Amino acid sequence: MATATATAPALVWFRRDLRLADNPALHAAVQSGRPLLFVYIREEDTALRLSPGAAADWWLHHSLTALAADIERLGGRLSLRQGAAADLIPEIVREAGVREVFWNRVDWPWIDARDRDIAEALQAADVRPRAFRATTLIDPASLLNGSGQPYKVFSAFWRAAQKDFSPRGPLPAPDSLTAADPIASDDLADWELLPVKPDWAAGFHDRWTPGEAAARKQLETFLGEALPDYKTHRDRPDLFGTSRLSPHLGWGEISPRAVWHRVQLQAERGQSFGAAEKYLAEIGWRDFAYYLVHHFGDLRQKNFDPRFDHFPWRDNPEGLQAWQRGRTGIPMVDAAMRELWKTGWMHNRPRMITASYLIKHIGCHWRDGMAWFEDTLVDADPVVNAASWQWVAGSGADAAPYFRIFNPATQGEKFDPDGHYVRRWVPELVSLATRDIHAPWEASAGQLASQGVELGRNYPRPVVDLKAGREAALAAFEQMKAEA
Ligand code: FAD
Repeated sequence: MATATATAPALVWFRRDLRLADNPALHAAVQSGRPLLFVYIREEDTALRLSPGAAADWWLHHSLTALAADIERLGGRLSLRQGAAADLIPEIVREAGVREVFWNRVDWPWIDARDRDIAEALQAADVRPRAFRATTLIDPASLLNGSGQPYKVFSAFWRAAQKDFSPRGPLPAPDSLTAADPIASDDLADWELLPVKPDWAAGFHDRWTPGEAAARKQLETFLGEALPDYKTHRDRPDLFGTSRLSPHLGWGEISPRAVWHRVQLQAERGQSFGAAEKYLAEIGWRDFAYYLVHHFGDLRQKNFDPRFDHFPWRDNPEGLQAWQRGRTGIPMVDAAMRELWKTGWMHNRPRMITASYLIKHIGCHWRDGMAWFEDTLVDADPVVNAASWQWVAGSGADAAPYFRIFNPATQGEKFDPDGHYVRRWVPELVSLATRDIHAPWEASAGQLASQGVELGRNYPRPVVDLKAGREAALAAFEQMKAEA
């Protein structure tokens, strides 16, 4: 009887952890000595999907292809199923005689709640659920301030986190495993995760290679080429100044723990110590978003600062559409929104600039921008995205105060000083002199004409004037304060 149980298969359920290295669930499954089955489930209920939007779907397709190949090299097979995990997991367990199910928690509250139900159902069927923590560096539950309350300010959170933090080294990828007889699988192509008509993701291929091997390579490229200047270049969208690891981290192709150790090693070798510290603090911001959601609930739905429930958001569908299409007439905003559309990604500084312009100048609810980013970012992460939008809106934890309103023209002058970023993504302005590139409306019509630009004809006038937009935003803020 004991032998029969030990040889019964275990199921490894992949989710936002599409990697073999430093994968606690996979590691424990291999250690169990059982023959293994592997599955990824695409939920039919979009609210429970792990891919928040169409650009993330593109990434998922390629990442699953890479993961399947990696598993195959070890002699296993990744099966793909579509439906409700709450039905499919018990079904697979029954069909294949599975005795243990291993997974890493996603740490999105709505998924965790569903997972707890699945764990209970498994237990009731005498099958052992084995859930692990793998998304973040820090266990959010374990970190509280002196009064036993969760931190609400990043600097205090990160100081405390680092004090307690001595992460174990990353777990190795298995070099062998025992595979069980594979279960049926869908054909990935049938999931239609890739756009066809039109193929709006054509430009994604030039920028990205999804998968675990590519994630590791991207980290090494960053460490070699950009980490030393990270502190000074991290705000420059015209340079390769940041790691561009966000989709790899988001899909779990590399763990934050593995990144932490690799960056520490670089710092210990005496290279870029200050830059490494700054870089790890950004990974800390990712952790902070998960920490907030763990302690304060789903930030996609509610303002962290409830005063913002009274904010008089404007209904401005034309403004929203101009923003989405990169046709606001504000070069820095348009460049960023077009970079997003063409590559599925946007640098952090323009994310802040575009979000601020949408919320504060155009007057749309931060949720409108959040939804667009969820659909168009390959790194779309509902937890980080919501926390970031609320940060810009001023309604979030430790947020930029609402009254601090970015001027996208002066931001452009500061962070794209030569105009290269704007010229790259807004070809209508390619001939504009650097002095005019971030605020063409300030140049005379004659000057612009000599540089091939006619506002309102081949490039829009600003949909919202910066000064008027700023004043309207401040007035709305005063109204909210009066009503809250
Ligand atoms: P690096 O500077 O190299 O940073 C390394 C890693 O740290 C990133 O890959 C990311 O995982 C994390 N990180 C960096 N900055 C932040 C930050 N401000 N908040 C949280 N984590 C951070 N990031 C996402 O991963 N998914 C999102 O959906 C997302 N939505 C955003 C929405 C808005 C409005 C804003 C302002 C920011 C958003 N960010 C999001 C955070 C940040 O912009 C990206 O993580 C970053 O630009 C990714 O580029 P990188 O990997 O080169 O960053």
